[in-house]
Amino acid sequence: MPIVLLAGTHPKIISTVLYFKNPSMNKILITGGAGFLGSHLTEKLLKEGNDVLVVDNYFTGSKANLEHLLPNPRLELMRHDVTFPLYVETNQIYNLACPASPVHYQYDPVQTTKTSVHGAINMLGLAKRTRARILQASTSEVYGDPEVHPQPEEYWGKVNPIGIRSCYDEGKRCAETLFFDYNRQHNLDIKVVRIFNTYGPRMHPNDGRVVSNFIVQALQGKDITIYGDGQQTRSFCYVDDLIDAMVNMMNSERGFTGPVNIGNPGEFTMLQLAETVLKLSGSKSKIIHQPLPSDDPKQRQPNIDLAKAKLGWQPKVNLEDGLKETIAYFRKIVA
Ligand code: NAD
Ligand code: UDP
Repeated sequence: MPIVLLAGTHPKIISTVLYFKNPSMNKILITGGAGFLGSHLTEKLLKEGNDVLVVDNYFTGSKANLEHLLPNPRLELMRHDVTFPLYVETNQIYNLACPASPVHYQYDPVQTTKTSVHGAINMLGLAKRTRARILQASTSEVYGDPEVHPQPEEYWGKVNPIGIRSCYDEGKRCAETLFFDYNRQHNLDIKVVRIFNTYGPRMHPNDGRVVSNFIVQALQGKDITIYGDGQQTRSFCYVDDLIDAMVNMMNSERGFTGPVNIGNPGEFTMLQLAETVLKLSGSKSKIIHQPLPSDDPKQRQPNIDLAKAKLGWQPKVNLEDGLKETIAYFRKIVA
């Protein structure tokens, strides 16, 4: 029967009608979907017409990150901690739940390890029951303080198992082990991406990560805090590029499990980053130096040959353009 909509029908009613007319093929679960990366991923997958269930305990994420998407009837939110089992129906799982900034993951390190390890076991168990494809948001931290530069996926890393970063690094390494054992033992359809430092709008202003710290400090006229001499390097990927790669990976051929590095190979010292933020924000803030946290990696740069070959992906947004977008976002919320 044709559906007739009268002129002036409320947009929410129109989207609800379209929803029932066009049931989506994918029922996608995103753990950690209310966080920085999760909210961008949710936005993209909804735009593509998928049903999305966001599961989050709101430790570092917030409903505000998803507020603009709430009218979409394809979106559902559930407050839930992934260290507990979850029974839902789904055919794709993106497992992002885990605090990502050192300040937040070191706040309750035992919970951080549980989130990575118990969270992975629970989500892999869910994938096994539903036969869903499951993608793990792993990290460049699995390489620790690397002796090989840039880092290819074959490199096994140099990680301190008992330091203050270990709850995150070793938790993520164990999660990768679990993913590959579920693949070998239960033939689970897994995908693993190793994400290098990513930045952009909706980063938490107080999460202590370097890009958000420098921008907030610059906009508020506070000192820019460089830890150590500022010669340590990182490679920064703009969030839109990262999300494209993550979705490409989820939809790649069965059997391509990864791990695959996702990041922008442009490599910058923290001093260069501070100077660029000062220039682009027009700030008069001073640069000061503070002690370097222990186990802080000296160098980090992804080798993305595998992502280029298997996913046909490479980043498009350069650091200055990405920083301009991010500064514009922070101006609205903190200046
Ligand atoms: P984020 O802190 O903004 O998001 C993490 C989300 O997980 C938050 O919404 C938080 O509330 C939720 N969460 C934490 N513990 C949970 C639990 N026990 N149960 C349910 N939800 C929980 O961080 P992000 O930058 O969006 O990172 C997302 C994922 O990507 C993380 O797994 C992180 O390790 C990985 N990653 C991010 C980066 C980066 O540069 N942003 C780099 C490498 C890896
Ligand atoms: N850093 C800094 N000043 C800050 C915050 C971080 O110099 O205010 C440094 C930090 O020591 C590290 C780099 O910036 O060398 C990146 O830190 P971040 O916490 O963003 O990410 P990660 O160390 O996990 O890559």
